[in-house]
Amino acid sequence: MQSLMMDFQLTLNAIMRRAEMLFRNQEIVTRQPDKSYHRYTYGDWIKRTKKLALALRRLGIKDGERVATFCWNHYQHHELYYGIPAMGAVLHTLNLRLGPEDLGYICGHAEDKVLVIDDNLLPLYEKFKDKVKFEHIVVLSRDGQVPEGMLDYEKLLEAEDESQFEYTDWDENKAIAMCYTSGTTGQPKGIVYSHRSMVLHSMAGAMTSVLSLNDEDVVLPVVPMFHVNAWGIPFTTVMCGGKLVYPGPHMDPQSLLEAYVAEKVTVTAGVPTIWFGMLQILDKDPKAYDLSTIRSLIVGGAAAPKSMIEGFQKRHNLKVVHAWGMTETSPMGTISNLKASLADLSEDEKYDYRAKQGFPCPMIELRVRGEEGLVASDGKSMGELEIRGPWVASGYYKLEESSDRFTEDGWFKTGDIATLDEQGYMEIKDRSKDLVKSGGEWISSVDLENELMGHEAVAEAAVIAVPHAKWQERPLAVVVLSEGKSASRDELTEFLAKKFPKWWLPDDVVFVKEIPKTSVGKFKKLVLRETYQNHLMG
Ligand code: ADP
Repeated sequence: MQSLMMDFQLTLNAIMRRAEMLFRNQEIVTRQPDKSYHRYTYGDWIKRTKKLALALRRLGIKDGERVATFCWNHYQHHELYYGIPAMGAVLHTLNLRLGPEDLGYICGHAEDKVLVIDDNLLPLYEKFKDKVKFEHIVVLSRDGQVPEGMLDYEKLLEAEDESQFEYTDWDENKAIAMCYTSGTTGQPKGIVYSHRSMVLHSMAGAMTSVLSLNDEDVVLPVVPMFHVNAWGIPFTTVMCGGKLVYPGPHMDPQSLLEAYVAEKVTVTAGVPTIWFGMLQILDKDPKAYDLSTIRSLIVGGAAAPKSMIEGFQKRHNLKVVHAWGMTETSPMGTISNLKASLADLSEDEKYDYRAKQGFPCPMIELRVRGEEGLVASDGKSMGELEIRGPWVASGYYKLEESSDRFTEDGWFKTGDIATLDEQGYMEIKDRSKDLVKSGGEWISSVDLENELMGHEAVAEAAVIAVPHAKWQERPLAVVVLSEGKSASRDELTEFLAKKFPKWWLPDDVVFVKEIPKTSVGKFKKLVLRETYQNHLMG
């Protein structure tokens, strides 16, 4: 028997209409390049978003065509997030930290028709302009000046009358946005999101057991809007009616701290590198900033070490919430909130759970496959993490050979090595490419790094596999010491020996000034592996 429920399509239209109806006076604040704050309301935003949709139509953009954005986190990017899909086109966010080769490839592969770009990013466009041809280039100009042959965003909007905008009833499976992986482990691959996947991702994200957002929240996404839709925050926050604070180009810890205080931020989200820097500033002068409004710092994109989670909580009363996801998973996959059933654990055991990547969001399912099939959920057995759910990619855009990333029964193979425990918590042990395979056994580089970063003299640590004649591979630790602190190789090895078996301990520790980072702030292990490939030979 079929149900008699309406076949109501899950689209962004419903999020926009709700915002218009309920939250017209809620604010969206942006830190401008000169550090002043631009502010307007949801009402203003909706008006301009409708004008944008009309302007894109006037430019001749057709249903399903791609419109690329090359922008920081700000209110105009927020308008593009909604205005492009509202007129039926596909929002394609470009990672502005990628090199010209990658950008040229990505724009060509996605066949972007329009590029919308911040005026202060035009010099970066110069570097890849010969590699791709757009029909229009629209500039977000602060002084009304745009280079010849390009269009002024504000003028396009001025020419439109928002009352002419009408919502179209889209099919919920229609493409809404696309994003290319940042290529940490190879050539960028395109993921195509739908109205439906974004709506469900937002609903799950808003839940108490996930990000727990509502209209009292003030949310500042540090995660760039060019990286996996800023983890969906521009959609989830609007669905809940929260205030948004966009940091503009000011993503350094100092500027962020200023914005947290000024706007009374309650929730913020970003990759660990941001929080390492912030912790150092707070440790130096714990009273300098009143951060009492903040109730969670969401950390994902790379592992958040237990020592960092403890450091924020114990020394500054700030709660770090660890989450895991991928471009292919929209990205929210798991979140490490504590289940009520774990309330009786000791403080230390609770930190152990919070340092895991967490339990799956509702509607997301996980399993772990070892060499001989699926492994037990015992918190120990490692294997490749597989995932499925309504906001997980079912394939890559125009990439024939992507079938090896999916199982025969349709699960996505993440390439992450993980464990699942009896409580349903997942823990990432490594990326399969980063595992150290020593004498046929696996050593988790992430476990070693996290422990090293808990040493008081260590600011950052990356552990990589280095070829070894006898053992095939051995771990090497690359360490950045904290300002004014010192530690020797032997000291750090002894420190690790307290926790790990002898054969896990790095064969050497090299001290460097800086660890190279990817465009989204992760350790560039590929570069480290190349640099140190002969390190253990002699
Ligand atoms: P890229 O592939 O360029 O790094 P993604 O942002 O899609 O781009 O990266 C997803 C990967 O980041 C995951 O597969 C995982 O390896 C890593 N990752 C994400 N969140 C975490 C986390 N909380 N802990 C450890 N690794 C993480």
